[in-house]
Formats: sequence, C-alpha cells, structure tokens
Amino acid sequence: MKIFKFGGASVKDAEGVKNVKNVLEFTAEKDLVVVVSAMGKMTNALEEIVKHYFANNTSETEASISEVYNYHLQILKELFPNASHGIYRKVSKWFEGMRSFIENNKSKNHAFVYDQIVSYGELISTTIVSEYLNENGLKNEWLDVRQCIKTDNYYRDARVDWNQTQELILENTSKKGVTITQGFLGAEDTHNFTTTLGREGSDYTAAIFGYCLNAESVTIWKDVPGVLNADPRHFSSTQLLHHISYREAIELAFYGASVIHPKTLQPLQRKEIPLFVKSFVKPEAPGTCVGKGVLLDPMVSCFILKKNQVLISLSSLDFSFMMEDNISEVFNLLHSYKMKVELIQNSAISFSVCIDNKYNSLESLLPKLMEKFKVTCHKDVTLYTVRHSKPQEIVSLTQGKKVLLKQEAGETVQLVTME
Ligand code: ADP
Ligand code: ASP
Ligand code: MG
Repeated sequence: MKIFKFGGASVKDAEGVKNVKNVLEFTAEKDLVVVVSAMGKMTNALEEIVKHYFANNTSETEASISEVYNYHLQILKELFPNASHGIYRKVSKWFEGMRSFIENNKSKNHAFVYDQIVSYGELISTTIVSEYLNENGLKNEWLDVRQCIKTDNYYRDARVDWNQTQELILENTSKKGVTITQGFLGAEDTHNFTTTLGREGSDYTAAIFGYCLNAESVTIWKDVPGVLNADPRHFSSTQLLHHISYREAIELAFYGASVIHPKTLQPLQRKEIPLFVKSFVKPEAPGTCVGKGVLLDPMVSCFILKKNQVLISLSSLDFSFMMEDNISEVFNLLHSYKMKVELIQNSAISFSVCIDNKYNSLESLLPKLMEKFKVTCHKDVTLYTVRHSKPQEIVSLTQGKKVLLKQEAGETVQLVTME
C-alpha cells in the first residue's frame, strides 16, 4: 500500500478538490491512505479566530469564524450544487463544535486553545474531500486521525508516542481500499484533547502512516515539479533535483527547504521507504525521489532562505566566559519560549544565536535574557543556507547585503544578512 498527501495548495478551491480526484484516478492506486491538509490558507484564518478570542473581541471572533465558514461554503456550493445535500449539515456540525468550544472553554492555555480551534481546518477539509470522492466514484473511508496518532500534551508542536500510534494505526486503518484522513493533528492520550504536530506538519503525518503501515512509498503532491535546488518564490532560475539521498534531504529540510516538513524524513529513512515529491498539476511527471542511493542528482548547489529571523548576541555582564552553565541557561530559556534555534556561534565571551520567532514570544524572552546577559538583537534578518556551494556563488549572494554572521561547516555555508 501507498501513502499520498495533498497539502493546502492542492485543495484551495473546488477545482483543486476535483483535481485530487483526477490525480487519484491517474495513479489508479487501489490501496491508499490519503492525508489531506486544511484548504488553502485556512490554518492562518483559523489562527485569526484564536487571536480575536484571546483579545476578548466577540464581534471580531464571530467575523473571523464567518470568514472560514464562507470560504468552505463557496467550495461546497461548487462541488455539491444540491443545497439540501447532507454534506452541508456535516460541515455545519464542525462549526457548531468550534462555537461550542469557544463558548464553554475556561482554559487560558493559549497553545491548548489554539490546537482545539485550528484543528477544524483539517477536519472540515477531509470531510468535504471524502464526500466528494465518494459521490464521484472513488469509494473511500473517512478516518479521524485523532484515534490513531497519540502524542504528549506539548500543544502546537506535540511529540508522537510511537508505540501507541503504531498499535492504533494498525488497529484502525484498513490496508485495503482508500482511507482519507487529516494531516497535522493528533490527540494527547490522557483526555484525548486534540493536539497539532507543528505548522506544515501534514507531510509528517504521511510519514507516520508510511512508517506504521510499512508502506511501499509516500508521495506528497505539491504545486512545484518536485524538490528544486532553491525556492522558486525567491530564486529566479532553479533546477529540479531528480534524486536526493535521505541524508541530504534531511539536511535540506532541517535548514528550511520548506517543500518537505523537516520531521518527515527520519521515520521513512529508518524503514527505507521512498518519498516522492510530485506535481499535482502534472502527475505524470517523475518529480523527485528521496531514497537510498546517490547524494544528489544532479549535483548542484542548493540554496535555502529563511526570512524574518532574529539574531541575538549575548555576552556575560562581567566579561566572564560563555561556558556550559551560561549556555545551558540560554538554551533552557529558548526552549521554554518555544524558540526554534537555526544557528549558533560562540566565542570566549559571546554567544550568538539565530532564531525563528515562530510563536511570537520574543518580547517575553528578551527581558529574561537581559537579566543575565548583555543582549544585542537584530530583528528581520535573513538566514541563507547554501549546501555544496562554490565560492563565487557566495560572493554573488551577499552582494549589496550586510553580512552579520557567517559560518562554514563541511558542505554547509550559513549567512545571516540584513538588506
Ligand atoms: P503544501 O502545504 O501545499 O503541501 P508547501 O507550500 O508546504 O505545500 O510546499 C510547496 C512550496 O514550497 C512551493 O510552492 C515552494 O514555494 C516552496 N519551496 C521552498 N523550497 C523549495 C524547494 N527547494 N523546492 C521546491 N519548492 C520549494
Ligand atoms: N494546515 C496545516 C498548516 O497550514 C498543516 C499543513 O498544511 O501541513 O500548517
Ligand atoms: Mg503547507
């Protein structure tokens, strides 16, 4: 059996949902688990609901719920012209659940509330996709992934309990036929509250199913021809990578090649399950294969860019050395404020770290650091990571930019720049 994953871009409108059917028909796979993300940018729209809810702004909360509702309603109208079709009731039920949570919730835990609300994106999208396919000759079963993927309660970035998950996936997923399920979601195992696996985490969900079901392969269907040697949104000439070894792909994803979620590859590598990255627009094209074999084909430099990063440089207040005890204190703080560390560099009396302020907690973190260290902070910096680079490429890349930090290790050059 195989695992497919369709992301937000592939189901952003009714045409997208119809195209999922075309792709499934084209591949003609009979035994599949199909993991689907929230439609289009619905996860961002759901984040707005959470924001207004915490600001105690009832009318804005209501307006943002309506926005999410109307977006889906538009897609439903195109896919199911009969207004009395049962799908309208099914989708309304999810919104009733969301509203009921919002009205009754007492928890002030932001991350917990976030997961309870944002998860509706995937629940709704899979309900629509599953129904549409069932009506149009592609029989499938809808599966609530929260019965299968068990996690801890580290909301917004929950960690998978592999033993339980393995057992539950085998128990609840049919290896025959087509199963449609949600990406990105899990459930913690004490109260069964919904958790999420981190933004863009649906690729990872596909890998979890691939691993637990010993799938033949996992395919993630994207709006690009495959993995390119740079993000086409930021680089004008890019090349398709035909084959990437697990190791190289792990490095690329880790450094931020956002076409593959970084957690996706390890479980697949452990069982040597190939990962295909293919175009949902051109399903017949070969795309990229991540698997055993050559490091990179073709062997070209790969460029990764992360915008809106923060560079923090710390030194001790009394010019003492930045040693293990200071550094571990810094890391404890970074961890408790959920900062993602992208790059570190240290010298005798200073320690620099480039971080992704993913959860907007920088303003709370800085005063904590200032209690113990002298702190310099550059916001809105760009982090470039180049693998297998040639010196001339680094020169062109940095032209006209101020380089705040440069680090070279093995095949990787990293630069923190300001425009
Ligand atoms: P989805 O969420 O729909 O599965 P993503 O938006 O997460 O898809 O991933 C696809 C996007 O990743 C592309 O549109 C592209 O802009 C971006 N991207 C970043 N780096 C790369 C890369 N090296 N190769 C291809 N696409 C990349
Ligand atoms: N819908 C989630 C997000 O946008 C998960 C995903 O798309 O992979 O982050
Ligand atoms: Mg995505």
